[in-house]
Amino acid sequence: MNKPLNIVLLSGGVGGAKMAEGFAFSQHAEMFSVIGNVADDQAFHGLWVSPDIDTLTYTLAEEIDTDKGWGLKAETNQVLEQLKKLGSDTWMYLGDKDFATHIFRTELRKQGVRPSEIAARIARSYGVKTPIILPTDSCIQNKVMTHSGWIDFQDYFVKYACLPEILDFKIDGINEATATPESLRAIAEADLIVIAPSNPIVSIKPILSIPGMTEALLSSTAFKVAVSPLINGETVKGPADHMMKVAGYRSDVLGVADVYNGLIDALVIDQQDRNAVSELSASVEHVLATDTLMFNRQNKIRLAETLVHVYQAAKSKKRFSPPVSSHMSSDSGQQIAV
Ligand code: GDP
Repeated sequence: MNKPLNIVLLSGGVGGAKMAEGFAFSQHAEMFSVIGNVADDQAFHGLWVSPDIDTLTYTLAEEIDTDKGWGLKAETNQVLEQLKKLGSDTWMYLGDKDFATHIFRTELRKQGVRPSEIAARIARSYGVKTPIILPTDSCIQNKVMTHSGWIDFQDYFVKYACLPEILDFKIDGINEATATPESLRAIAEADLIVIAPSNPIVSIKPILSIPGMTEALLSSTAFKVAVSPLINGETVKGPADHMMKVAGYRSDVLGVADVYNGLIDALVIDQQDRNAVSELSASVEHVLATDTLMFNRQNKIRLAETLVHVYQAAKSKKRFSPPVSSHMSSDSGQQIAV
């Protein structure tokens, strides 16, 4: 039997968790791990909330509220209602069961337990087998500059429903952050590193910007493939298209290739963007256009397996045999899966 592939996913919340589910429930689950974003973390009611890590945990535990794509299923909101009565600001929805996660996390943080260890303990208690690795144990936080000044990411995202015009971004604490040994080891030992179709600016860039992280990725011999979160110039959900423009990139698959320029060996885009394939081939060695919309377990797994096929085809220098819905070309003469 072939040795299982060591696959590492760099992931944000909702889009990343869909990709994580695809791998975790595929034939490639055995040596699959996820490095999740922690720059959307924020304190609420004195508790440390880590939305992307919780989305990954709840998804892989099959406890996610599938309608929302975040939070636990079958939630109630008595704690939040009570906090409201007490005069608390309750715009950030936190369900009763979800509150337990944040209480547990905050208590352990106060005891000095490493955030990585806390995330691992929470995942274990939910029965999640896939290692969910934090890229840093340092506190890093996305901030958004609006006409009213710098605001916290969740304030922009949830409280103001992404409505304020964004003038700039920053990640507080990023220069002082240190990468966790677990994330560096995962990257060094990987055969295949996948950048999820997550928000490149506020989910993936915070991971890549941790000092030493991009260098670790560059020196890893793993094959690196990104999946575009933008389809036809738009996000499936959320403000990534708008954020790409503010950050100085095109808000389309060419912009996504630009963000990951020099880092990736392959880019997988949606078949709706197949016209961009030849232009992309100038900057990315392997480009594949296929269905990237993930709305059920089956197509999440299918996309995960397609990424593995891209890797295997590149390694064996063979032309990629796409699934029925994919579109191919090899106009640069390279072994391109397109
Ligand atoms: P967040 O941290 O909860 O915002 O989640 P992520 O950063 O992981 O993912 C947000 C991105 O996922 C958005 O830019 C979406 O366009 C993208 N996304 C969500 N679902 C899909 C999907 O099914 N296919 C693709 N290609 N992108 C998706």
